[in-house]
Amino acid sequence: ITNVSHDIRTPLTSIIGYLGLIEDKHYQSQEDVERYIHIAYTKALQMKVLVDDLFEYTKVRQTSTPLTLQTLNLGKFLEQIAAEFELESDRKQMDIQVLMETDPLHIEVDVDKIARVFNNLISNALKYGRGGTWVRIHAAKIGSEAVISVMNNGEKIPKKALDELFNRFYRVESSRSQQTGGTGLGLAIAQSIITLHGGYIYAESNNQLTKFVMHLPLKQTIEDSQELE
Ligand code: ATP
Ligand code: MG
Repeated sequence: ITNVSHDIRTPLTSIIGYLGLIEDKHYQSQEDVERYIHIAYTKALQMKVLVDDLFEYTKVRQTSTPLTLQTLNLGKFLEQIAAEFELESDRKQMDIQVLMETDPLHIEVDVDKIARVFNNLISNALKYGRGGTWVRIHAAKIGSEAVISVMNNGEKIPKKALDELFNRFYRVESSRSQQTGGTGLGLAIAQSIITLHGGYIYAESNNQLTKFVMHLPLKQTIEDSQELE
């Protein structure tokens, strides 16, 4: 709650501040007004992302959250997601590649939720993989599981931080000070989503590469998920 209050209060203070200037007619020109409105609007959008993420987090934390299952061609799905990052990766001069060791690989998942996991992992790799030149997504069928890794060759994540990455609100010091705008909920949400699918996720990092590995069962065993209230 302390973390959230801080992250909500900061943009809110600035929204109130800039709207206050307009309310009190403390502006010289129409341009001033437009600038203040623009800042307040941007901060409000930022707050919305945080509140949406928090809501999503509390939802996926509940083990009774139902999954909307669909059978997916994993290779096609990953290519599609990678394509959505083309603009951003071009801008950062990073190359995104999907490598399917097993293809086609069919897997039963909640597509929207799993898309959210990959969106966060890829955007993290682009955002925090400083000095990196590529992001690779590798997938293979191993027994009754799909093993999927999202790798990038950026700066190493310190050993101490690796254990904490999946904790809500955790951000490695350097990215907190840098204004990357994240809240540290992405990996906590990702982990909860993978857990809901009966899988697990972990991270490894060395000087050559950082990778996030997911093990997901190919099929969901539907148990009665209705728990006692
Ligand atoms: P959000 O995803 O909620 O917008 P966030 O990206 O900061 O915010 P997480 O996705 O949970 O939160 O990531 C937590 C932290 O882990 C990041 O702030 C960053 O410091 C570190 N991190 C994540 N992925 C990588 C990566 N590929 N390379 C280096 N550091 C990473
Ligand atoms: Mg993130």
